[in-house]
Amino acid sequence: MTAESETPPAPQSPDRRDFVKKAGAALGTAALTGSAAAQEQERRPVFQPESYWKERMKPPDDGKRYGWIVDTRRCFGCHACEVACKAENDVPLGHYIRQTIYHDHRRSNGQLARIMAPMACQHCEDAPCLKACPCGALFKGPGGSVQVDYDVCSGHAACRDACPYGAIYIDPVANQAIKCHNCTHRLEVGMEPACATTCPSEALVFGDLNDPEARISRLARRIEEEEGVEVAVLREEKGTRPRMRFIVDGDHPMEAWEPKVPGEGSSYTPDAYSVFNWGPLEEKES
Ligand code: SF4
Repeated sequence: MTAESETPPAPQSPDRRDFVKKAGAALGTAALTGSAAAQEQERRPVFQPESYWKERMKPPDDGKRYGWIVDTRRCFGCHACEVACKAENDVPLGHYIRQTIYHDHRRSNGQLARIMAPMACQHCEDAPCLKACPCGALFKGPGGSVQVDYDVCSGHAACRDACPYGAIYIDPVANQAIKCHNCTHRLEVGMEPACATTCPSEALVFGDLNDPEARISRLARRIEEEEGVEVAVLREEKGTRPRMRFIVDGDHPMEAWEPKVPGEGSSYTPDAYSVFNWGPLEEKES
């Protein structure tokens, strides 16, 4: 059959052509609007109505307020806390409940130095993970520790997406949210979290902030009243009121290494330690 003998397409009336054009434009606009909306949605933590999480945000009336002081000047990157945490909580390869963040820098005297900041759930007073969970699985346990109820968690990952510190991962086998719970099972029998007791440099101090004689309270008083060193919370602008405070190397402020800490929608990964990310500081600076 020649091209001339092919049946030409049925002529469209001007009305129909107009309709098809407008419909195409409308569909294109809808697709664009849809993707912009999806992107916006991705960026914004989705919180449940306050009535849904208000009760679970209240800690039990046990008179305790658990918190942490992390001395980044003492941490020398031995990863003992991570190993202890993995052993204690059966954390599989490739996943972390806590991770030590590295940041290489040049001190004011010109020396090269590496700052290490042990990182985990900040046990926020105003925990966005708890507000985001659609199942109602997150709650405040003893001393205000933020915990997951594994009879309820269905692995939606809304908590991971809302956490501004990347402190939650989704277990690929159980499909449930995993995070630091202050080793509650150890606290119940009078022990400290595994990481805190394992740290050989005593960079991690855990305790009851309501107890003026607790080691953490004495340390807080000493550093604030006597030593005058900088103590900071991570990403204060998020309004989460974290229970973890960091003693920061005065020569290297938190703002410099804080971008290494993962944020909303991400978790700690083995990439943080990849030797392929290492290299002379000068190269990284250029
Ligand atoms: Fe929740 Fe993340 Fe805050 Fe921990 S640090 S309480 S996981 S929002």
